[in-house]
Amino acid sequence: MLRSTLLAASRSPRSRKLIEQLPPTRAIVNRFVAGETLVDGVSVTRDLVATGRRITLDHLGEDTSDATQAAATAEAYEKLLAALSESGLADRAEVSVKLSAVGQFLPQDGEKVALDNARRICEAAAAVGTTVTLDMEDHTTTDSTLGIARDLRADFPWLGVVLQAYLHRTEADCREFSGPGSRVRLCKGAYQEPASVAFQKKSDVDLSYVRCLKVLMAGEGYPMIASHDPRLIRIAGELAASNGRAADSFEYQMLYGIRPEEQERLTAEGNTMRVYLPYGNEWYGYFMRRLAERPANLTFFLRALATKS
Ligand SMILES: Cc1cc2nc3c(=O)[nH]c(=O)nc-3n(C[C@H](O)[C@H](O)[C@H](O)COP(=O)(O)OP(=O)(O)OC[C@H]3O[C@@H](n4cnc5c(N)ncnc54)[C@H](O)[C@@H]3O)c2cc1C
Repeated sequence: MLRSTLLAASRSPRSRKLIEQLPPTRAIVNRFVAGETLVDGVSVTRDLVATGRRITLDHLGEDTSDATQAAATAEAYEKLLAALSESGLADRAEVSVKLSAVGQFLPQDGEKVALDNARRICEAAAAVGTTVTLDMEDHTTTDSTLGIARDLRADFPWLGVVLQAYLHRTEADCREFSGPGSRVRLCKGAYQEPASVAFQKKSDVDLSYVRCLKVLMAGEGYPMIASHDPRLIRIAGELAASNGRAADSFEYQMLYGIRPEEQERLTAEGNTMRVYLPYGNEWYGYFMRRLAERPANLTFFLRALATKS
């Protein structure tokens, strides 16, 4: 119930206006976001890389309804990739892109605009020797996003895709995307989805995650285990071992600011651990999804509000 309310608020312009104006919001947002500027993103990347972690940077933004803004987002990624290269970080840091931020929802030729902008970003990544992963948004975008990923993979076979274990379709998608070299980030899924397309109970989502993991770990691709769930992390390690996978043939991924000690533990054990690091001023939707995932985050937020007011 609370989760649904927060996820509905994450797409409400009225709630956005209200929350953005609250005085302590910024301090709490900083727990999950590197900062507002490219310099902030690169600086936190440098600090995390120094601890042995890898990074995937997200230039915050989603649901763009304006072609100029979509092109500006592609340009922001080009600048980011150039900055990573100039700072000597491109071999440790890649980028994550939401297709809705580069035009997927535009009423005219949205998919084509998103494909062209994503191609620009892939070309810039290839030029500096790093990779791109396409984030996955709500289920109405899955076919379109996977279609664009298939097109891009013809030229950029290293392009990563995200599959969400809460969707009924995902085990089958894992089979399609588990071929040689295929980079797949498996997450539980962060959006509000109807029972017609998605498992509703946490235990059913977790079981689906394990079924998907089995397919990916037995496949010939490169699984990216995006979860903070201790049980799933343990199962992923066991499946990697039982499938004879070397430590460099899969990786763990977590969000910036969440379970940092576990990130360090997995790194110290010789695993590849990649942190998803958002930066920019369009943090509202991302922040609300993080509140929805964990009631304790909301309590922390409300307590901070009460103290400051
Ligand atoms: C690298 C990465 C990329 C992602 N990309 C996408 C994407 O493209 N599309 C998409 O739909 N979703 C994405 N997600 C989000 C994902 O779908 C989940 O919503 C999120 O990871 C929470 O699920 P969980 O597997 O951590 O398990 P949960 O069962 O939600 O959490 C397990 C434990 O992790 C900790 N935890 C989890 N979330 C939080 C939080 N917000 N704050 C504090 N502690 C927390 C808690 O200790 C919790 O008990 C991504 C997640 C990661 C890690």
